[in-house]
Amino acid sequence: MKKKIVYVDMDGVLCDFAGAYTTAQAANPGIQYPQSQYGFFRNLKPLAGALAAMASLRSNPELDVYILTAPSIPNPLCYSEKREWVETHLGMDMVRRLIISPNKGLNKGDFLIDDHKEGRGQDEFEGRLIHFGSAQFPGWGEVLRVFG
Ligand SMILES: [Mg+2]
Repeated sequence: MKKKIVYVDMDGVLCDFAGAYTTAQAANPGIQYPQSQYGFFRNLKPLAGALAAMASLRSNPELDVYILTAPSIPNPLCYSEKREWVETHLGMDMVRRLIISPNKGLNKGDFLIDDHKEGRGQDEFEGRLIHFGSAQFPGWGEVLRVFG
């Protein structure tokens, strides 16, 4: 049987972008783009349940799991720090499955787990969009039920 391809977003799904953004802004109120500081992406905290959820998805023999994240384009650090984050928290196997793309609609597959429904091509994705953080999928527990 052909495996189902699952794409998992990073910011707001695997890592706590919003929390780090708020903390960085509070520490340095004049700053316009906290996310452009050295170490911002590398030091993001994993969101609750995210690492265990990835282990669960990856152990499902019916699924082929990738990370699909859009870059912060003006910030060159984000490309390397996202890769570092994945190695630190999920290991080299997932680094080999890390896709950094400004247009998620170009990837073919069955599921996209993302906290935004549009803006980076999510609305053009041909498979099912699982809207992380929505009323239907407020957290990883609800998302994992989709995959049995
Ligand atoms: Mg996101």
